[in-house]
Amino acid sequence: MEVRLGATTQRKKLRIYERHDIDSLRQLARLSEGERAAMKAVAAVLPFRVNDHVLEELIDWDAVPDDPIYQLTFPQAGMLARADLQRMMELMGAGASAEQIQGAAREIRARLNPHPAGQVELNVPRLDGRPVMGMQHKYRETVLFFPAQGQTCHAYCTYCFRWPQFVGLDDETKFASREADVLVAYLRAHPEVTNVLFTGGDPLLMRTAVLRRYIEPLIKARLPHLVSIRLGTKAPAYWPYRFVTDPDADDLLRLFEEVRAAGMHIALMAHFSHPRELEPPVAREAVRRIRSTGAVVRCQAPLIRHVNDDPRVWATMWAAQVRLGAVPYYMFVERDTGAREYFEVPLARAAEIFRLAYRSVSGLARTVRGPSMSATPGKVVINGVARVGSEQVFVLQMLQARNPEWVGRPFFAAYDPRATWFDQLRPAPGGEGFFFERELQAMTRGRRPRDQARRSLPIYGASAATHAAVS
Ligand SMILES: *Cc1c(COP(=O)(O)O)cnc(C)c1O
Repeated sequence: MEVRLGATTQRKKLRIYERHDIDSLRQLARLSEGERAAMKAVAAVLPFRVNDHVLEELIDWDAVPDDPIYQLTFPQAGMLARADLQRMMELMGAGASAEQIQGAAREIRARLNPHPAGQVELNVPRLDGRPVMGMQHKYRETVLFFPAQGQTCHAYCTYCFRWPQFVGLDDETKFASREADVLVAYLRAHPEVTNVLFTGGDPLLMRTAVLRRYIEPLIKARLPHLVSIRLGTKAPAYWPYRFVTDPDADDLLRLFEEVRAAGMHIALMAHFSHPRELEPPVAREAVRRIRSTGAVVRCQAPLIRHVNDDPRVWATMWAAQVRLGAVPYYMFVERDTGAREYFEVPLARAAEIFRLAYRSVSGLARTVRGPSMSATPGKVVINGVARVGSEQVFVLQMLQARNPEWVGRPFFAAYDPRATWFDQLRPAPGGEGFFFERELQAMTRGRRPRDQARRSLPIYGASAATHAAVS
């Protein structure tokens, strides 16, 4: 293989800062004592992690607190309800014990809808009649795989919908698979699956040698129906050194080449929230090196108030991605979990932001789809707002669905300027219910409640029932 040294990039070692570093971070010295106390209170409830790249390259400290990357990574007082924030600050101010603080944090988290849409029971697949932990199989073609060692990230997004797994809300939400063999066995039994999507956390938090233990068995298995391996990651934004100067960066690129040589497509599903993340030269070098292996970088992110709720931000970001040869893929709607009230954008506004951004970029950037909600029936995209007779409606469509037959059928919901999530939408007047509703009910009826599902047998030595926290 050609050696691609990141010759112009200075090596950096990943140093991580969390809740207990808030008082010692020099960048935070500009905050008042009270502001830091509020930050610590929020960080006791919601996950917080940054690193030097985020601190030094991505945040404009002169623009704090409005800086989008600061909002993206640092806990803000408004992320908790006023009463919860006050209670936490009082506890901490009074020198409460770690157990007391943990106890209060657990209570608050339980009220933040940690398992959106109650999907815990619905997506865990079965093999030989038993649940397979560390995997989700919701859409026919694609299996999600959660490698055990890839369940945290290089930094945390304050809006993360998988936040419960980072705060130890419940050990059982940290679903992870230890066994690549299980994955291969499952795929052999499911020829309809063409895609495996490694996700987390961030699978690229794993050393390359560990990632190899998952990917090489997929290569060696030579499954004729497996078309693509995808890696869901925010490393190109939060830790681009992973692909450039980390000691095992070259080996990671070699692994991508091996997947390609085996006749499969490899895609990095890169999470970029803001064009700023693509500005540091090391981030561009990372994208260049990834692409030099034949891997494709596809970009996706949710639309988040305080971070990227502006069509110019998206248009700039998509253009920057195209410039680097990356492919704009999805704009998501912020999920109904965690600090949603701080981050959510009404669906009507989301559709408008999407439209304004979409119409201002060239066709090469219009590979993007959205705004899309990962809801119980499927990925529901808002195609826009229209008038039917005298009624204003949202025009919706599923891009993915529990039943593939639901995909691509336009349907309407009554326009509601305040709705922020799919479950707040109602069929357009005259409609009898969404076309898939009866079938969806039949699918979800009879599922065991979560506490029973927990007791089901784990297989192949996977740890006690680890369930999916996502829809
Ligand atoms: C988004 C998603 C996928 C991948 O969908 P694509 O449209 O193929 O990118 C797979 N599984 C789940 C559960 C998802 O939410």
